[in-house]
Amino acid sequence: MSDESAEGPVEIIQCPVELDYTYTAGQATTRFLRGVGEGKLLGQRCIVCGKIYVASRGACPIHGVPTGPETVEVSDKGTLVSFSIVRIPSENLSVDPPFAAISVLLDGSDSTFMHVLSDCPLEEVRMGMRVEAVWIPKEEWTTSLKNITHFRPLDEPDAPYDSYKEHL
Ligand SMILES: [Zn+2]
Repeated sequence: MSDESAEGPVEIIQCPVELDYTYTAGQATTRFLRGVGEGKLLGQRCIVCGKIYVASRGACPIHGVPTGPETVEVSDKGTLVSFSIVRIPSENLSVDPPFAAISVLLDGSDSTFMHVLSDCPLEEVRMGMRVEAVWIPKEEWTTSLKNITHFRPLDEPDAPYDSYKEHL
């Protein structure tokens, strides 16, 4: 061969892959997202243990039974129980790194909620910090979690470790 670039092993190829999903929300997620569309975070209670799941998948993961029919509104404030600082950009991220991906235990909920923490220096992000959801203007609400842009710190003392240690 005359082309030198064709010699040697092939070490890398570009292979774009695109997958489109149609995700059916189902009853439980539909209920949750309709609540989000009204500025509410709704959970469902396990009929065996009484735990409240937000956003519920319609069943208690511990007992394997359907959650009860009623919805329970929980607070949009909560406690940061764990976090990860994301420093690597990715096409599927809507937030520019570095940022803190956080797991929040909303007040009144027994399950954690993943989101982004902003309005806070990264070196101050810590377990136990009290945070609240920041909503887009009400006139822009849809039935999407995009109604909440991020969480931000609350001017409150950190929650004691014992109050969230079961949710790490
Ligand atoms: Zn249960």
